[in-house]
Amino acid sequence: MLKLYNTLSRSKKLFRPIKGKNVGLYSCGPTVYNYAHIGNLRTYVFVDILKKILAYHGYKIRHVMNITDVGHLTSDADIGEDKLLLAALREKRSVWDIASYYTDVFKKNISDLHIASPDIWCKATDHIPQQIELIKKLEKGGHTYRISDGIYFDTATFKNYTTLARLKLSDQKAGARVEENKEKRNPWDFALWKFSPTLESGVKREMEWESPWGVGFPGWHIECSAMSTFYLGQPFDIHTGGIDHISIHHTNEIAQSEAAYKKQMARFWVHAEFLVIDNARMGKSEGNFITLQHIIDRGFDPLDYRFFCFSAHYRSQLTFSWDALASAREGRLHLESQVAHISKEAGTGAVSSGMRALFGVYEKKFLAATADDLNMPKTLSVLFSFLTRINKSKKEMTPAEYGYAYKKILAWDAIFGLRLGEEKSEQKIPKYVMQLFHQRTEARKQKKWKHADALRIEIQRAGFSVEDTQEGPTITRI
Ligand SMILES: [Zn+2]
Repeated sequence: MLKLYNTLSRSKKLFRPIKGKNVGLYSCGPTVYNYAHIGNLRTYVFVDILKKILAYHGYKIRHVMNITDVGHLTSDADIGEDKLLLAALREKRSVWDIASYYTDVFKKNISDLHIASPDIWCKATDHIPQQIELIKKLEKGGHTYRISDGIYFDTATFKNYTTLARLKLSDQKAGARVEENKEKRNPWDFALWKFSPTLESGVKREMEWESPWGVGFPGWHIECSAMSTFYLGQPFDIHTGGIDHISIHHTNEIAQSEAAYKKQMARFWVHAEFLVIDNARMGKSEGNFITLQHIIDRGFDPLDYRFFCFSAHYRSQLTFSWDALASAREGRLHLESQVAHISKEAGTGAVSSGMRALFGVYEKKFLAATADDLNMPKTLSVLFSFLTRINKSKKEMTPAEYGYAYKKILAWDAIFGLRLGEEKSEQKIPKYVMQLFHQRTEARKQKKWKHADALRIEIQRAGFSVEDTQEGPTITRI
């Protein structure tokens, strides 16, 4: 009985797949002209949680994610400069190199955050024929028209254009949400196919393709419509993305797919909120661009960021600060050490019926929290209260019962993805902890006791203890 918030109805709805236990899931992926910032990555942690919770509830998922590796424009509208091209000029590389480099970095970020890869990664440039086919279908249905710079979708021919975003088009001023292009029939019409610059202009695009309308490249919404239908059929079960996609990108995807196939595109539209920093949305133009590498360089484990994401529901804004991330690290390491303790006590054998009943109660609470629109703060609190309960019963718990508890935690970690079951080697001390350790030793040599003490506390907060022996200070995991 899993409930998801569906943007289409603006309410939580019981989720039932179209075909038995199989779920078709499509996620808008990255545009690969720059590093992803941690706000972008929050959306992919959300998608991962969605997949893992669906799997925990017994569903089989087919997950498709696109890579936008073709010229996107610098604004949401169809004017401005091509982002990939700008990056290629900036970095003095070809657009193909730019796309392939940032795709690799994105995939590395995903794997560092312990986010499961989609079953199918699909690149826009590998699916030009599918995009052309879809535009041809729209043309046949009378949904397109040609102006000097490309083929456009005529939004007046699709009556549900405003449904997803609940837009009042009369309130939309041309030039605010969409650019003013005098040739367009309606200000919110958008490009399906853009023509390459003419020979006279002297500009030669690196990425361009033949099409029935002339040499050019696809508009930026068409790839998601073409590839989602190609891999998942139509309708499919769930489409995800960031909330910034509701009013334009997803609105236009729906217009293209539903006008072409005369049926619903996706049953559920699930959107993740922003990560904010200093009260603003994280983004390149906002000047607060933090990548996963910045986090790693400051001595954090990518899993600290993953854990931090669980502190807010995906539909709430999450405020990032380095202090908040440090608290998340502390919380995660504390959790790790609690689980390591249970693992040490774990044995096999019979489990008393009382203990089984108790565990059953927690399993129910856990399932309910996950089923309540993927409520991760609640789900995490069930795990913590379970650990507290075990700690309270430690006098009467047998090794078999510890073993039973440990197995349950590992099963739950299939959702958290915090690698709780992995052996933590005592030797594997993070670099930043070793730096703190050396700084403390140095401080002691210089008799700066207060400073040395402060460093010891910081080391403890990271889950390690320092002891001063006759041979000098030693460090071990708590
Ligand atoms: Zn998309």
